[in-house]
Amino acid sequence: MAAPSIEIHPGRLADVGGAQVRRLLPRRGHRTVGAWCFADHFGPAPGAVGGIGPHPHIGLQTVTWLLEGELVHRDSLGSEQAIRPGQLNLMTAGHAVVHAEEADPGASGRHGVQLWVALPESTRMGPAAFEHHAELPTVGLAGAEATLLVGELEGTRSPARADTDHLGAQLVLHGPATVPLRASAEHAVLTVDAPITLDGEPLDIGQVAYLPPGRSEVGIAAVDGSRSVERPRVLLLGGTPFEFEPVMWWNFVARSREEVVDAYRDWQAEAPRFAPVASSLARIPAPDLPWAR
Ligand code: MN
Repeated sequence: MAAPSIEIHPGRLADVGGAQVRRLLPRRGHRTVGAWCFADHFGPAPGAVGGIGPHPHIGLQTVTWLLEGELVHRDSLGSEQAIRPGQLNLMTAGHAVVHAEEADPGASGRHGVQLWVALPESTRMGPAAFEHHAELPTVGLAGAEATLLVGELEGTRSPARADTDHLGAQLVLHGPATVPLRASAEHAVLTVDAPITLDGEPLDIGQVAYLPPGRSEVGIAAVDGSRSVERPRVLLLGGTPFEFEPVMWWNFVARSREEVVDAYRDWQAEAPRFAPVASSLARIPAPDLPWAR
């Protein structure tokens, strides 16, 4: 049986903290890939995403992965954690959390991805948490080395917390690669250094590939002529299709508009639900709500 066809979709440009980013998830008509509900690719550029002041989250995990540069994470749990390429910051918002991402003004380029995972019913109203992983396991594949940010691949599991069965991995290509996939899962692929092909279909930086369930592998290769990047890095995201279609607005992932409105009001009122963060950056006010209550 032929594998289901690969869909290539354009991302869109969005503004985050005054820097332009490529927003690859969510897309209209396809809000989630597994539990992954948000993907921004920022940089590489001097000053790209300078710093983001304290802002709230509910109902999600933030997954921060740098390709170049450094950021310092501070949150309302009291966490203070620098993150560098190859390391993972994973913050679980649960019912409420506030964090800031501070950039070293002297740092050179900054390049990375900011991902969100929607939390399942069992933990989305639970306590906030933060974890940092300085080292992550790797798996050798045909033509690529995979670093496991979260989830399991070829029998190796990331130590990062996973409340659903989602997978996040960075692939470093060193030849035409064959990447095993779980057929019950759907997947998304982003390329961050150079154009690639997926089973021969071209995928450029700023685009996202969607692979429906029913595939047991995908071939990934660098594009001839883009060999200025010797070993392009690719991100693979996947998981069983999520249990519900989330309501997403600003920094909130919820089940209903009412939950979003409550979080909005609590943030604007500086309610105790959203505790302060020790950051030199200014608190970010919410934009106007798009709905009247
Ligand atoms: Mn955030």
